[in-house]
Amino acid sequence: TVADPASLVEGLNPAQAQAVTHSGSPLLIIAGAGSGKTRVLTHRVAHLIATGRARPGEILAITFTNKAAAEMRERVTALVGPAGERMWVSTFHSACVRILRRSHEAAGLRSTFSVYDAADSTRLITLIVRELGIDPKRFTPKTFAHRISDLKNELVTPEELARTAQPTNPMERHLVEVYQAYAQRLAAANALDFDDIIMRTVALLQTQPAVAEAYRRRFRHVLVDEYQDTNHAQYVLVRELVGGPGTSGEGSPLPAGELTVVGDSDQSIYAFRGATIRNIEEFEQDYPSARTILLEQNYRSTQNILTAANTVISRNSGRRPKNLWTSSGDGAPVTGYVADSEHDEARWVSQEIDRLADEHGVRPAEVAVFYRTNAQSRALEEVFVRSGQPYKVVGGTRFYERREVKDAIAYLRAVDNPDDDVNLRRILNVPRRGLGDKAEAALAEHASRHAVSFGRAVADAAGVPREDPARQGDDEPPVVEGLTTRARNQVRGFHELLVSLRQMLGEGQGVAEVLDSALDASGYLAELRASDDPQDATRVENLAELHSVASDFQAANPTGTLADFLERVSLVSDSDQLPDADEAGTGGLPEGQVTLMTVHTAKGLEFPVVFVTGMEDGTFPHVRSLSEEADLAEERRLAYVALTRARERLYLTRAAVRSAWGTTQAMPASRFLDDLPAEVVDWRRLASDTVALYSDSTGWGSSWGEGGYGSGRRGARGGPGRRAGADRGGEPGESPAHPDEDDFAPPVGSGNRRTGRLG
Ligand code: ATP
Ligand code: MG
Repeated sequence: TVADPASLVEGLNPAQAQAVTHSGSPLLIIAGAGSGKTRVLTHRVAHLIATGRARPGEILAITFTNKAAAEMRERVTALVGPAGERMWVSTFHSACVRILRRSHEAAGLRSTFSVYDAADSTRLITLIVRELGIDPKRFTPKTFAHRISDLKNELVTPEELARTAQPTNPMERHLVEVYQAYAQRLAAANALDFDDIIMRTVALLQTQPAVAEAYRRRFRHVLVDEYQDTNHAQYVLVRELVGGPGTSGEGSPLPAGELTVVGDSDQSIYAFRGATIRNIEEFEQDYPSARTILLEQNYRSTQNILTAANTVISRNSGRRPKNLWTSSGDGAPVTGYVADSEHDEARWVSQEIDRLADEHGVRPAEVAVFYRTNAQSRALEEVFVRSGQPYKVVGGTRFYERREVKDAIAYLRAVDNPDDDVNLRRILNVPRRGLGDKAEAALAEHASRHAVSFGRAVADAAGVPREDPARQGDDEPPVVEGLTTRARNQVRGFHELLVSLRQMLGEGQGVAEVLDSALDASGYLAELRASDDPQDATRVENLAELHSVASDFQAANPTGTLADFLERVSLVSDSDQLPDADEAGTGGLPEGQVTLMTVHTAKGLEFPVVFVTGMEDGTFPHVRSLSEEADLAEERRLAYVALTRARERLYLTRAAVRSAWGTTQAMPASRFLDDLPAEVVDWRRLASDTVALYSDSTGWGSSWGEGGYGSGRRGARGGPGRRAGADRGGEPGESPAHPDEDDFAPPVGSGNRRTGRLG
């Protein structure tokens, strides 16, 4: 059922067709939004297979989200048949985890390694900071977490840092200590964090020539989408996989693999995670034989939408000017609206969606509402719930970050990996079993004195003999000091629980059954059920939802292991909770649901109708970007991404005042709005007189800054309300250190999919 190669270039424009059929040298496709880059990549993969230039197993395609990966595999399979299933199409992280699992010995890892998400790493760093006696107020664990992540994205090891750090600078000195301790602890726990996944794969390829050669032989074709958002580590990874000069494959008789990258420097929006436009801008220098293809026709949006987007991005300096055009006609003008407040803004958006439905037959599934930061979804959600507008929030309140879900996952992780210290410590006294701080400290002390994992300390306290293969017998464990008899008994019970759960797995029981047993036998569920706090009822529902996730996983992967399940949980990214293609955005409802998401999450997607809300200086661009040229440039690219998601109708709204933290601030119009050419925007409403008056009397300049609106607004999420209380709850100490972190945390969980259908 291999497709006719000619059919794969049908309907493509000449530049696209060249990109699909090009062969013999590295290929760079740079083009603006909606010009068919992702489509070309998909067709190119299908074409490689259809012409017999590659077998599916020889292809490695990297996409930005798991959803994009699934879509690409599906499309290729539709084009070339079931052989398409054998391709590797995945995110950087999923591909690297797969490589590390297959080659774990060469990588110096045990096959059962676990993957820590951002919250796990921060918790571990918090423990380390405490143990090293560093003042966590002056040097926050979050700051260390960020600095360490940056270092790993730059492939800087603790040893290298120790050589280059300034010993006179206290922060740097502490950073060296913390980074070293953190690396040791991860190794002891047989765990990797997100950044390690890439860094360790690079190290594997660079230090093990035979392994690198084997992967190069296997992946003759490497294709990367959204290349503008790769960081240095990912850049080196790609180079190593392809081989050739400057890599560990230099001098090998194996010719370099064929590399195709597609991207758009105007859509680079992850500089805060170490992404560098340099990778795309200097591609031609890195790969001198590269061919570059520009795509200039946009197939997504109307001319009015494109003009608006092009004008906004054209104000960024130092970019290659692009000449994006469309043949689809002007379309409706871009609609502008100035609301009195964020509530008024939400009401208007909701009414306009109703009007579009009534007058133009637009279905909710065709509509997306974007905002710069997660917190902004609240006002929208309130109105949608009240008016009975079905909606879903993508990203934001992440299902897997809820306390009860994290607890349950921690049980599974502890079952899966006995040396997983962080998760073991998380559940040691959850539910409360009389193993408080003192018992935990005694166990930790024991672990460090005997240089064993926390898990082994628990086993020691439970009196479980140590296996000693050298003496072909078992050794009595050393006594754990500082535990009361009662605590010792409790530890034994806790240990037996974990052992029995592992036994269940050994007997072939599924993840869902193990999960149920963990929650039952530990008394976790009983405690929640006995509570009369309504929040605990919600927690029970969430655990039920997790149970369904596990049984769905089992149904889809009959041979899947607990490790596979946990890996899935940690690697799923925000966009993945978008409905699958077969649901086609309906979310189970015939007319579908309106999608609410941050702009970061919307990358690569498209919708017939898009509302970009909060177009205010201080909201979008974000307050923390206002003083730095480079940050503002990134905000402008983010605005370009937002505007270019729209196919037919684009709405830009702002609120004249916005309240947060109990105070109300007057908000000036976003500078991006000022840039729009008047002829493409239809202002439905400008600022009202009352608001104008109000803005005169308040002004936001004075109360701006660190302690003011910017940080307060984020803090406000900790306040009352369903989102803060029920969804965000449980991890009060984990307020984000960077505004963007919050909008698009590293891909940790598939997030929450709430349905606002309360009427
Ligand atoms: P982004 O920069 O936002 O990721 P992109 O360059 O990857 O955008 P695609 O998502 O591949 O663009 O394409 C945008 C839209 O245009 C899609 O709906 C796609 O199916 C359509 N499209 C692309 N090329 C063509 C074509 N030659 N004929 C018809 N439709 C096309
Ligand atoms: Mg794309």
